[in-house]
Amino acid sequence: MPRIDAEVRATAAQCRHYAMCKIDYLATGICPSGPEKGFVTYYPQGRMDLIRGLAEGRIPVTEALVEAADTCTLCGVCDFQCHFVTGMQPTAVMRALKQYVDDYRREEGEVVRPVEDEALRKLRGIVGRDWATNDPAVLWTYADDPFPLAGPQMPRYVVLPGSRDEVAAAVRLANGLGLPFAIRGNGGSVFGFVFTDGIVLDMARMRRIDFDLENWCAAVEPGVTSFELQQEAFRRGLRVNAAEPAATVCGNLVCTGTFSTWSNVYGTAADNFVDMEFVGRDGRIFRLNDKRGPNHFAFERRVVPSPGVCTKAFVKLHPMTGDEEGLLVPFEGFDEAVRFARELGQRRIGLALAVLGAHYLATFLTPDEGLAGKVKTALPEALGINYVVFTIADRFGREAIRRMAPAVIDSSLLRVLMLGLPRLVEPRWLDLVREYEGRSRPFELLCRPGMRPVVEAVLQPSPETISESVPESLRPFYRELYARPEMTDMVWLNMHRIVSARMSRRKHMFAFLVYVPPDRLEVVHEVMDGFARVAGAHGIDHDFGFLTPMDLGKRAILEYDYYIDHTDPAEREKIAAAMPELDPWLDALAARIPGVLSLKYVFSQGCSRKDNFLYRV
Ligand code: SF4
Repeated sequence: MPRIDAEVRATAAQCRHYAMCKIDYLATGICPSGPEKGFVTYYPQGRMDLIRGLAEGRIPVTEALVEAADTCTLCGVCDFQCHFVTGMQPTAVMRALKQYVDDYRREEGEVVRPVEDEALRKLRGIVGRDWATNDPAVLWTYADDPFPLAGPQMPRYVVLPGSRDEVAAAVRLANGLGLPFAIRGNGGSVFGFVFTDGIVLDMARMRRIDFDLENWCAAVEPGVTSFELQQEAFRRGLRVNAAEPAATVCGNLVCTGTFSTWSNVYGTAADNFVDMEFVGRDGRIFRLNDKRGPNHFAFERRVVPSPGVCTKAFVKLHPMTGDEEGLLVPFEGFDEAVRFARELGQRRIGLALAVLGAHYLATFLTPDEGLAGKVKTALPEALGINYVVFTIADRFGREAIRRMAPAVIDSSLLRVLMLGLPRLVEPRWLDLVREYEGRSRPFELLCRPGMRPVVEAVLQPSPETISESVPESLRPFYRELYARPEMTDMVWLNMHRIVSARMSRRKHMFAFLVYVPPDRLEVVHEVMDGFARVAGAHGIDHDFGFLTPMDLGKRAILEYDYYIDHTDPAEREKIAAAMPELDPWLDALAARIPGVLSLKYVFSQGCSRKDNFLYRV
């Protein structure tokens, strides 16, 4: 057997399965073989799994594996895409896969040609020969994700239906054969939810979007990602409430009910769609808005199965006013930041809205993990910023916020900061701050219009400056990238959410989401302290994520994150020990306090009315 280099193995094992290599979010184009072949196996993510599978002895060399290796052109696009969010450069893995296959052929190793069985013949009869397989290499790329609490689960078949009727026929066949099935959107769920030992239905071929502008909605098939829908809406001067960029729109609506910083005004769950079409688990087709159908607008406070396979969602479109810009309002303390965000929610000022900590802010803003660590320290130390209230607002909203807040970082100042971040962590900036020490808080100094020439002289913001932070081989690419206005535009970035995938750059992230009553700060603290206590007891890296007010500031969604290296057995043990402590504690809190609810219970009930889980009657 050919050998696989340890560094290549380590890189492949670190793939986060975020599927960002499956969307063209940097306008570089995507891996050419992916869209043509459909299966994740032919995207960089799949090839990372193939090398891992070979290295661990989990898969043989098969026809599909050879094809996946051969169809990689070593174009290098996945280096740009993957580095932007994870800091990794996977082309070395792709080269190793090709080398492995070349060596294997040279050694005249046997290439496994899977045999078509009766079930596969029937599945191919439904979707066509090219869109169903039992090739072990393909199956392996649908067997696992970084979720450390479950081992790989190999499906027997992977099927890519091309229409609603094909979905229905495949579901009926699965039921007839007594095989379970799992529905896969774009990536994995990173929580181990999309695996089965039966049939995986990958919705990647159903990618149609039809805009109905008079009705302010878009009919979206289940293979469409949030990024793709937002991009199309944006071209029309419109916006949707979008999930993580690589998440499929339908999958996200069903799973957790889409929420984002825009949920401040657009809401969540059933607020986000006009209607949805499903193939039920029995293979029957129904619409949510059909009175004779099952009532998925209701909510049960327990873990329940999903309504079935969503085959179309009629997603709400929202207008943009053309004068929207981003603002950051800096704060030293968490409580004052939450109070301010809640007040904006209550007063209906601003659109997107969130409280962010230094950790998130530093990670979002920087293309390099090393720089992010320094910026995370510099924000409190050099600028006095521990938290910011982030908002997108029209000009009226921004005027109101400027009257309410002593200092704001507007979109042009944020652009200066983003492009000059490497200088912010250097002694010159710290000297400047010390020079003015005592006169006002450093962030007030930063935000003063008269200081802008000094700030610019020290930070020297430019695509060249920010590109200094990435490896030399990637600098020409980053210089071009940061010369594009949208890469420093808070409105575009926040709508398309491409930087939020950087949250798991440092390590695999467990995002815990809890609905909370933001007017009860002691409850918000109890939730955060609880997560911090359990993480601390088990030696797990942890941090506050974000808090976004909803429904006029009466409720909020809070994210708290744990970080572990999912490839390290010791770290896996830590999270395995911590998880059982979280549920009983959170359940007891939720039973005691109205407005507290773990998103775990909303899972698979994302179509429900938010009022049914945010409030109790
Ligand atoms: S280097 Fe290979 S795997 Fe990466 S994007 Fe290009 S063709 Fe795809």
